[in-house]
Amino acid sequence: MKKIKYMNDIKNLTEWFNASEIKRPMVIAGPCSAETETQVLNTAKELKNNGINLFRAGIWKPRTRPNCFEGVGAKGLPWLQKVKAETGMLTATEAANAKHVELALNAGIDMLWVGARTTVNPFAVQEIADALKGTKIPILVKNPINPDLELWIGALERLYAAGIDKLAAIHRGFSTYQKIKFRNEPQWQIAIDLKRRIPNLPIFCDPSHICGKREYLEEVSQKAMDLNYNGLIIESHCNPDKAWSDASQQLTPGDLGKLLSNLIIRKPEADNENIRSTLNDLRFLIDDFDSQLLDLLEERMKVVQKIGAYKKANNISVLQSRRWNSILERIQQLGESKGFSKAFINTLFKAIHQESINHQENIMNKD
Ligand code: PEP
Ligand code: MN
Repeated sequence: MKKIKYMNDIKNLTEWFNASEIKRPMVIAGPCSAETETQVLNTAKELKNNGINLFRAGIWKPRTRPNCFEGVGAKGLPWLQKVKAETGMLTATEAANAKHVELALNAGIDMLWVGARTTVNPFAVQEIADALKGTKIPILVKNPINPDLELWIGALERLYAAGIDKLAAIHRGFSTYQKIKFRNEPQWQIAIDLKRRIPNLPIFCDPSHICGKREYLEEVSQKAMDLNYNGLIIESHCNPDKAWSDASQQLTPGDLGKLLSNLIIRKPEADNENIRSTLNDLRFLIDDFDSQLLDLLEERMKVVQKIGAYKKANNISVLQSRRWNSILERIQQLGESKGFSKAFINTLFKAIHQESINHQENIMNKD
């Protein structure tokens, strides 16, 4: 497979929608679903009045359960054409198969996104990529519903290999069976890893599908800005409580305007020598502490290995649950008193413990 070379500069995308005055974040907004021509046009006009230039609306809706509203289908495409003609906004919709791509392209849709339920399926992504060959429209790829970075990157690679070079990612959170505050668990680390792996890939946050409830939208959008995301894709509806899908996470165009003006947009990089040098000094300290942490872990591991050899000599098993529980309990209390969250202490010490077990098992199984 040819070497992937991603868009070198976010400007490609900003140039594409010809709005040089647009500052971060780029905002794509519109209803979860196109429902009626009036709902689509009213929402678009109100969004335009609130400074939005990119309009989204789902035409084909992948619903989790049957007998839910599954989108109006192709008859909604002319409504999006009308949005473009009457407001000058550019339009985006979700494509989940080759037929959707063909119909959307014929209708002059400006940008497509691949939904979370499609990104998980390499056959479907390949079908979409093949249908897009020879076209130049921007494609945004949502994260798969399961927390699998390789699958997300794989979908981007399939599209890139088909000649699509205006690519961007959308972070919309991950499914979980656990009861959590949000509809989908953000798992910010996965999006941060994606940025690390493909530094020039623009990334949008979809706070709507992360939050599930409109009251959380602002905090999640702010977090995305703090992490230097390039854009936001947010569901907005002229009458959100009456929306045919995802009602509780949509907000009015007016409320979206307020949310956006409340966001604090910080500079992605220090642009002044003084700030840069202060940051460098502090980062030097961080690097030094990181090395010290590793030195300490190395010393800890030497003790772990001694214990491993001793357990082997005395025929004692590697894991003693009671000892592990008491380590965790003690360290959680200590961690709490130092202001660390229980979740952080758990993750950190489970990783240390697992590594210790691996080292002891190596010792046990060595002749
Ligand atoms: C959507 O954006 O309307 C949508 C269906 O989202 P997701 O693929 O993230 O569930
Ligand atoms: Mn939705």
